[in-house]
Amino acid sequence: MKYKFDHKSLSFEKEVVSLKKRLKKLIGHLLTGISFAVLTILIYNNMFTSPKEKRLKRELNATEIEMEKINRRVNLLSNVLRGMEQKDDDLYRVLLEAEPIEDRNPSLVKLSLSEDYSDMQSFSKELNDLSRRLDILTVRSQIQLQSYQELWKLSQNKEEIFSCIPAISPVKNPKVVSGFGMRYHPIYKILRRHTGVDLIGRRGTPIYATADGVVSRENAGSGYGVAIIINHGYGYKTLYAHLSKKAVRPGQKVKRGELIGYMGSSGLSVSPHLHYEVIKNGVKVNPIHYFFADVTPEEYNKILEDASKVNQALS
Ligand SMILES: [Zn+2]
Repeated sequence: MKYKFDHKSLSFEKEVVSLKKRLKKLIGHLLTGISFAVLTILIYNNMFTSPKEKRLKRELNATEIEMEKINRRVNLLSNVLRGMEQKDDDLYRVLLEAEPIEDRNPSLVKLSLSEDYSDMQSFSKELNDLSRRLDILTVRSQIQLQSYQELWKLSQNKEEIFSCIPAISPVKNPKVVSGFGMRYHPIYKILRRHTGVDLIGRRGTPIYATADGVVSRENAGSGYGVAIIINHGYGYKTLYAHLSKKAVRPGQKVKRGELIGYMGSSGLSVSPHLHYEVIKNGVKVNPIHYFFADVTPEEYNKILEDASKVNQALS
Protein backbone atom coordinates (compact mmCIF):
# COMPACT_ATOMS: atom_id res chain seq x y z
CA MET A 1 0.00 0.00 0.00
CA LYS A 2 1.35 3.42 -0.95
CA TYR A 3 0.53 6.85 0.46
CA LYS A 4 0.96 10.23 -1.11
CA PHE A 5 0.80 13.80 0.40
CA ASP A 6 -2.18 15.84 -0.69
CA HIS A 7 -1.25 19.60 -0.76
CA LYS A 8 -4.87 20.71 -0.74
CA SER A 9 -6.01 18.74 2.30
CA LEU A 10 -2.54 18.84 3.86
CA SER A 11 -2.79 15.17 4.74
CA PHE A 12 -1.55 11.77 3.59
CA GLU A 13 -4.01 9.90 1.47
CA LYS A 14 -4.06 6.36 0.14
CA GLU A 15 -2.84 6.17 -3.39
CA VAL A 16 -4.91 3.89 -5.61
CA VAL A 17 -2.77 2.08 -8.18
CA SER A 18 -4.81 0.51 -10.92
CA LEU A 19 -4.60 -3.24 -11.59
CA LYS A 20 -3.62 -2.52 -15.18
CA LYS A 21 -0.55 -0.55 -14.12
CA ARG A 22 0.50 -3.25 -11.68
CA LEU A 23 0.20 -5.98 -14.31
CA LYS A 24 2.24 -3.91 -16.77
CA LYS A 25 5.01 -3.56 -14.23
CA LEU A 26 4.98 -7.25 -13.44
CA ILE A 27 5.19 -8.26 -17.10
CA GLY A 28 8.03 -5.78 -17.59
CA HIS A 29 10.04 -7.44 -14.80
CA LEU A 30 9.30 -10.89 -16.14
CA LEU A 31 10.43 -9.99 -19.68
CA THR A 32 13.69 -8.50 -18.41
CA GLY A 33 14.35 -11.66 -16.39
CA ILE A 34 13.67 -14.01 -19.28
CA SER A 35 15.82 -11.96 -21.66
CA PHE A 36 18.71 -12.09 -19.24
CA ALA A 37 18.39 -15.85 -18.79
CA VAL A 38 18.30 -16.49 -22.56
CA LEU A 39 21.33 -14.28 -23.11
CA THR A 40 23.27 -16.11 -20.39
CA ILE A 41 22.47 -19.54 -21.88
CA LEU A 42 23.48 -18.37 -25.35
CA ILE A 43 26.82 -17.02 -24.16
CA TYR A 44 27.49 -20.12 -22.08
CA ASN A 45 26.70 -22.49 -24.96
CA ASN A 46 28.92 -20.61 -27.36
CA MET A 47 31.89 -20.34 -25.06
CA PHE A 48 31.94 -23.65 -23.24
CA THR A 49 31.48 -27.32 -24.27
CA SER A 50 30.04 -29.66 -21.73
CA PRO A 51 31.96 -32.86 -20.83
CA LYS A 52 29.18 -34.87 -22.42
CA GLU A 53 29.56 -32.96 -25.68
CA LYS A 54 33.32 -33.45 -25.57
CA ARG A 55 32.87 -37.18 -25.14
CA LEU A 56 30.37 -37.33 -28.03
CA LYS A 57 32.76 -35.42 -30.29
CA ARG A 58 35.60 -37.82 -29.45
CA GLU A 59 33.36 -40.80 -30.19
CA LEU A 60 32.27 -39.29 -33.50
CA ASN A 61 35.90 -38.74 -34.56
CA ALA A 62 36.82 -42.32 -33.67
CA THR A 63 33.81 -43.63 -35.59
CA GLU A 64 34.73 -41.57 -38.65
CA ILE A 65 38.28 -42.99 -38.62
CA GLU A 66 36.92 -46.52 -38.23
CA MET A 67 34.49 -45.90 -41.08
CA GLU A 68 37.33 -44.81 -43.35
CA LYS A 69 39.24 -48.02 -42.52
CA ILE A 70 36.19 -50.15 -43.30
CA ASN A 71 35.69 -48.30 -46.59
CA ARG A 72 39.29 -49.06 -47.55
CA ARG A 73 38.78 -52.75 -46.76
CA VAL A 74 35.61 -52.85 -48.81
CA ASN A 75 37.53 -51.29 -51.73
CA LEU A 76 40.22 -53.95 -51.45
CA LEU A 77 37.64 -56.73 -51.32
CA SER A 78 35.88 -55.27 -54.35
CA ASN A 79 39.14 -55.20 -56.33
CA VAL A 80 39.99 -58.80 -55.43
CA LEU A 81 36.53 -59.87 -56.51
CA ARG A 82 36.89 -57.86 -59.74
CA GLY A 83 40.10 -59.80 -60.52
CA MET A 84 38.31 -63.12 -59.96
CA GLU A 85 35.43 -62.03 -62.17
CA GLN A 86 37.75 -60.97 -64.98
CA LYS A 87 39.71 -64.23 -64.92
CA ASP A 88 36.44 -66.12 -64.84
CA ASP A 89 35.07 -64.21 -67.86
CA ASP A 90 38.25 -64.13 -69.95
CA LEU A 91 39.66 -67.57 -69.22
CA TYR A 92 37.60 -70.14 -67.35
CA ARG A 93 34.23 -69.45 -68.97
CA VAL A 94 35.84 -69.17 -72.42
CA LEU A 95 37.76 -72.43 -72.02
CA LEU A 96 34.66 -74.27 -70.87
CA GLU A 97 32.53 -72.56 -73.53
CA ALA A 98 30.03 -71.29 -70.96
CA GLU A 99 27.62 -68.50 -71.91
CA PRO A 100 28.92 -65.06 -70.85
CA ILE A 101 27.43 -63.63 -67.67
CA GLU A 102 25.39 -60.63 -68.76
CA ASP A 103 25.22 -58.55 -65.62
CA ARG A 104 27.72 -58.99 -62.83
CA ASN A 105 27.01 -55.59 -61.30
CA PRO A 106 23.57 -55.51 -59.83
CA SER A 107 22.19 -51.99 -59.84
CA LEU A 108 20.91 -50.48 -56.64
CA VAL A 109 17.38 -50.61 -58.00
CA LYS A 110 17.45 -54.39 -58.12
CA LEU A 111 18.69 -54.65 -54.56
CA SER A 112 16.01 -54.95 -51.97
CA LEU A 113 18.40 -55.80 -49.16
CA SER A 114 18.74 -52.24 -47.82
CA GLU A 115 16.10 -49.76 -46.80
CA ASP A 116 15.94 -46.38 -48.43
CA TYR A 117 17.70 -43.85 -46.24
CA SER A 118 17.83 -40.96 -48.69
CA ASP A 119 16.49 -38.44 -46.16
CA MET A 120 19.13 -39.22 -43.55
CA GLN A 121 21.81 -36.99 -42.14
CA SER A 122 25.26 -37.13 -43.70
CA PHE A 123 26.81 -39.58 -41.24
CA SER A 124 23.92 -42.00 -41.38
CA LYS A 125 23.97 -41.62 -45.15
CA GLU A 126 27.63 -42.60 -45.21
CA LEU A 127 26.84 -45.65 -43.11
CA ASN A 128 24.00 -46.50 -45.44
CA ASP A 129 26.24 -46.16 -48.53
CA LEU A 130 28.64 -48.60 -46.93
CA SER A 131 25.82 -51.00 -46.22
CA ARG A 132 24.74 -50.84 -49.86
CA ARG A 133 28.26 -51.45 -51.13
CA LEU A 134 28.37 -54.55 -48.94
CA ASP A 135 25.03 -55.64 -50.39
CA ILE A 136 26.47 -55.31 -53.90
CA LEU A 137 29.60 -57.25 -52.90
CA THR A 138 27.40 -59.98 -51.46
CA VAL A 139 25.41 -60.30 -54.66
CA ARG A 140 28.57 -60.23 -56.82
CA SER A 141 30.13 -62.99 -54.70
CA GLN A 142 26.97 -65.07 -55.05
CA ILE A 143 27.08 -64.64 -58.85
CA GLN A 144 30.75 -65.68 -58.87
CA LEU A 145 30.03 -68.72 -56.73
CA GLN A 146 27.21 -69.76 -59.09
CA SER A 147 29.62 -69.37 -62.00
CA TYR A 148 32.17 -71.70 -60.36
CA GLN A 149 29.44 -74.25 -59.66
CA GLU A 150 28.29 -74.06 -63.29
CA LEU A 151 31.87 -74.43 -64.56
CA TRP A 152 32.47 -77.36 -62.26
CA LYS A 153 29.51 -79.18 -63.84
CA LEU A 154 30.70 -78.26 -67.35
CA SER A 155 34.23 -79.44 -66.62
CA GLN A 156 32.95 -82.91 -65.72
CA ASN A 157 31.92 -83.46 -69.37
CA LYS A 158 34.69 -81.41 -70.89
CA GLU A 159 37.63 -83.55 -69.79
CA GLU A 160 37.69 -85.23 -73.17
CA ILE A 161 37.42 -81.91 -75.01
CA PHE A 162 40.30 -80.52 -72.94
CA SER A 163 42.61 -83.32 -73.98
CA CYS A 164 41.81 -82.49 -77.63
CA ILE A 165 42.62 -78.75 -77.45
CA PRO A 166 46.29 -77.93 -78.26
CA ALA A 167 47.73 -76.86 -74.92
CA ILE A 168 51.49 -77.40 -74.88
CA SER A 169 54.54 -76.42 -76.89
CA PRO A 170 55.48 -78.96 -79.61
CA VAL A 171 59.15 -78.79 -78.55
CA LYS A 172 60.69 -78.66 -75.08
CA ASN A 173 61.97 -75.20 -74.03
CA PRO A 174 60.56 -73.46 -77.11
CA LYS A 175 62.49 -70.62 -78.69
CA VAL A 176 60.23 -68.62 -80.97
CA VAL A 177 62.23 -66.94 -83.73
CA SER A 178 59.28 -65.82 -85.80
CA GLY A 179 55.70 -65.19 -84.80
CA PHE A 180 52.27 -65.25 -86.40
CA GLY A 181 51.28 -62.44 -88.79
CA MET A 182 53.07 -60.38 -91.46
CA ARG A 183 56.72 -61.50 -91.71
CA TYR A 184 59.44 -61.40 -94.38
CA HIS A 185 59.66 -64.62 -96.36
CA PRO A 186 63.29 -65.85 -96.35
CA ILE A 187 63.22 -67.12 -99.93
CA TYR A 188 60.67 -64.86 -101.70
CA LYS A 189 62.03 -61.83 -99.77
CA ILE A 190 58.59 -60.28 -99.48
CA LEU A 191 56.37 -59.39 -96.53
CA ARG A 192 53.61 -61.98 -96.32
CA ARG A 193 51.32 -63.60 -93.82
CA HIS A 194 53.13 -66.13 -91.66
CA THR A 195 50.44 -68.62 -90.66
CA GLY A 196 52.24 -70.24 -87.75
CA VAL A 197 55.22 -69.84 -85.45
CA ASP A 198 58.81 -70.87 -86.12
CA LEU A 199 60.56 -72.63 -83.26
CA ILE A 200 64.29 -72.90 -83.63
CA GLY A 201 66.39 -75.90 -82.55
CA ARG A 202 68.95 -78.46 -83.64
CA ARG A 203 68.20 -80.91 -86.45
CA GLY A 204 66.70 -84.02 -84.85
CA THR A 205 65.09 -82.19 -81.90
CA PRO A 206 62.05 -84.32 -80.81
CA ILE A 207 58.63 -82.92 -81.69
CA TYR A 208 55.53 -83.79 -79.66
CA ALA A 209 51.79 -83.84 -80.35
CA THR A 210 50.21 -80.85 -78.58
CA ALA A 211 46.86 -82.61 -77.94
CA ASP A 212 45.19 -86.01 -78.36
CA GLY A 213 44.13 -86.81 -81.92
CA VAL A 214 44.58 -88.86 -85.07
CA VAL A 215 47.40 -88.38 -87.62
CA SER A 216 45.68 -87.07 -90.74
CA ARG A 217 46.07 -88.40 -94.29
CA GLU A 218 45.88 -84.83 -95.68
CA ASN A 219 48.82 -83.48 -97.63
CA ALA A 220 50.12 -80.24 -96.13
CA GLY A 221 51.57 -78.91 -99.42
CA SER A 222 55.03 -79.04 -101.00
CA GLY A 223 56.41 -75.91 -99.30
CA TYR A 224 55.98 -77.53 -95.89
CA GLY A 225 58.40 -80.38 -96.71
CA VAL A 226 58.00 -83.43 -94.45
CA ALA A 227 54.91 -82.46 -92.45
CA ILE A 228 52.39 -83.97 -90.07
CA ILE A 229 48.81 -82.82 -89.62
CA ILE A 230 46.96 -84.08 -86.54
CA ASN A 231 43.18 -83.96 -86.42
CA HIS A 232 42.09 -83.42 -82.80
CA GLY A 233 38.35 -83.21 -83.38
CA TYR A 234 36.14 -80.42 -81.95
CA GLY A 235 37.31 -78.25 -84.88
CA TYR A 236 41.02 -78.37 -83.98
CA LYS A 237 43.97 -79.41 -86.15
CA THR A 238 47.71 -78.85 -85.72
CA LEU A 239 50.42 -78.86 -88.38
CA TYR A 240 54.15 -79.58 -87.89
CA ALA A 241 56.35 -78.75 -90.91
CA HIS A 242 59.93 -78.95 -92.25
CA LEU A 243 60.63 -82.18 -90.31
CA SER A 244 63.66 -84.35 -90.94
CA LYS A 245 61.73 -87.54 -90.13
CA LYS A 246 58.25 -88.64 -89.02
CA ALA A 247 57.71 -90.98 -86.07
CA VAL A 248 53.99 -91.67 -86.74
CA ARG A 249 51.90 -92.94 -89.69
CA PRO A 250 48.60 -91.58 -91.05
CA GLY A 251 45.59 -92.91 -89.16
CA GLN A 252 47.59 -93.46 -85.97
CA LYS A 253 46.06 -92.26 -82.70
CA VAL A 254 48.34 -90.02 -80.64
CA LYS A 255 48.22 -88.67 -77.11
CA ARG A 256 49.26 -85.19 -76.02
CA GLY A 257 53.03 -85.13 -75.44
CA GLU A 258 53.66 -88.19 -77.64
CA LEU A 259 56.73 -88.09 -79.93
CA ILE A 260 55.61 -87.62 -83.57
CA GLY A 261 58.79 -86.60 -85.45
CA TYR A 262 62.11 -84.77 -85.53
CA MET A 263 63.09 -81.23 -86.42
CA GLY A 264 64.64 -80.60 -89.85
CA SER A 265 64.75 -78.15 -92.73
CA SER A 266 62.77 -79.90 -95.46
CA GLY A 267 60.60 -77.92 -97.93
CA LEU A 268 60.91 -74.13 -98.25
CA SER A 269 63.17 -73.59 -95.27
CA VAL A 270 66.49 -71.87 -94.73
CA SER A 271 67.65 -73.60 -91.54
CA PRO A 272 66.46 -76.31 -89.11
CA HIS A 273 63.29 -75.23 -87.33
CA LEU A 274 59.73 -76.32 -86.69
CA HIS A 275 56.93 -74.39 -88.37
CA TYR A 276 53.91 -75.03 -86.13
CA GLU A 277 50.30 -74.14 -86.95
CA VAL A 278 47.03 -74.36 -85.04
CA ILE A 279 43.91 -74.52 -87.18
CA LYS A 280 40.55 -73.89 -85.54
CA ASN A 281 37.43 -74.54 -87.64
CA GLY A 282 39.52 -74.20 -90.81
CA VAL A 283 41.12 -70.89 -89.78
CA LYS A 284 44.82 -70.63 -89.00
CA VAL A 285 45.07 -68.97 -85.57
CA ASN A 286 48.01 -67.72 -83.52
CA PRO A 287 49.56 -70.84 -81.89
CA ILE A 288 51.05 -68.69 -79.12
CA HIS A 289 47.64 -68.71 -77.43
CA TYR A 290 47.83 -72.50 -77.17
CA PHE A 291 51.09 -72.79 -75.23
CA PHE A 292 49.49 -72.26 -71.86
CA ALA A 293 49.75 -75.63 -70.12
CA ASP A 294 53.47 -76.22 -69.73
CA VAL A 295 55.19 -72.84 -69.58
CA THR A 296 55.75 -70.54 -66.63
CA PRO A 297 54.34 -66.98 -66.84
CA GLU A 298 57.92 -65.69 -67.34
CA GLU A 299 58.55 -68.12 -70.21
CA TYR A 300 55.21 -67.22 -71.73
CA ASN A 301 56.03 -63.50 -71.60
CA LYS A 302 59.34 -64.18 -73.36
CA ILE A 303 57.52 -66.21 -76.05
CA LEU A 304 55.00 -63.40 -76.53
CA GLU A 305 57.78 -60.84 -76.82
CA ASP A 306 59.78 -62.89 -79.34
CA ALA A 307 56.67 -63.70 -81.37
CA SER A 308 55.66 -60.04 -81.66
CA LYS A 309 58.83 -58.96 -83.51
CA VAL A 310 58.25 -58.32 -87.21
CA ASN A 311 61.28 -60.13 -88.57
CA GLN A 312 62.10 -62.72 -91.19
CA ALA A 313 60.36 -66.07 -90.94
CA LEU A 314 62.29 -69.30 -91.47
CA SER A 315 59.21 -70.23 -93.53
ZN1 LIG B 1 57.16 -70.64 -90.44
